[in-house]
Amino acid sequence: MSALRVENLNVHYGTIHAVQGISFSLEEREIVSIVGSNGAGKSTVMWTLAGVVERSGGSVEIFGEPLPAKPHEIVARGLALVPERRRLFSALTVSENLIMGAYLRKTDASVEEDMERCFQLFPILKQRLKQRSGTLSGGEQQMLAVSRALMSKPKILLLDEPSLGLAPLLVETLMETILRIRSEGMTVLLVEQNATQALEISDRGYILEAGRFLKSGPGRELAGDPEIRKAYLGG
Ligand code: ATP
Repeated sequence: MSALRVENLNVHYGTIHAVQGISFSLEEREIVSIVGSNGAGKSTVMWTLAGVVERSGGSVEIFGEPLPAKPHEIVARGLALVPERRRLFSALTVSENLIMGAYLRKTDASVEEDMERCFQLFPILKQRLKQRSGTLSGGEQQMLAVSRALMSKPKILLLDEPSLGLAPLLVETLMETILRIRSEGMTVLLVEQNATQALEISDRGYILEAGRFLKSGPGRELAGDPEIRKAYLGG
């Protein structure tokens, strides 16, 4: 059974046909990347899977069941989205943001345990607990956004351009963290515009252009493909 199975997905914004009949699946514990230029439809795919944008056609299954319609029901099934540009609650502290991430959960004890797990991945957040998230550096905000999603204890983590605005060294750390998250048993769907590193850590990748997949294959193969390097990976 796939973690996610997407068949013939279509999304319209009025007359704009943003996603034009794509199909893909995500097996458990896989890292899969969707790569494409600006406006290709990457975020739209992510929003649709998170239930924020409605699809105009196609079907989505999560662990063999139809994807529920409402975002909170989708979170409860085990899917969490880290949106592009983080969308943190910037007036709230680090600790408050993390607690918001666990809002569907019941017991305080496990919330604390999961916070500790986040601090193991991102030790700096522990020192920043009382700080308002709007005052964190870009890299710290990204760590917090990932941690907030992890607080919902997802089985599937969707990351929309997590490397955006991060220094190269931090991008590398982030990719290593994504590998660690997978080794803990999670399935990861990653969307990136600057895609070499994303493809290198991915089991499989898909190239999205104007709402359709142009190509797919093992991540490393795509990362090394000269044509793709030229078009999407900055030479
Ligand atoms: P980026 O990396 O710039 O976010 P993307 O690949 O994520 O690009 P989307 O943001 O999904 O692309 O956009 C896909 C298409 O849908 C684009 O043509 C965009 O202009 C259009 N679009 C996105 N959001 C809306 C919206 N709310 N209303 C109308 N059109 C939209």
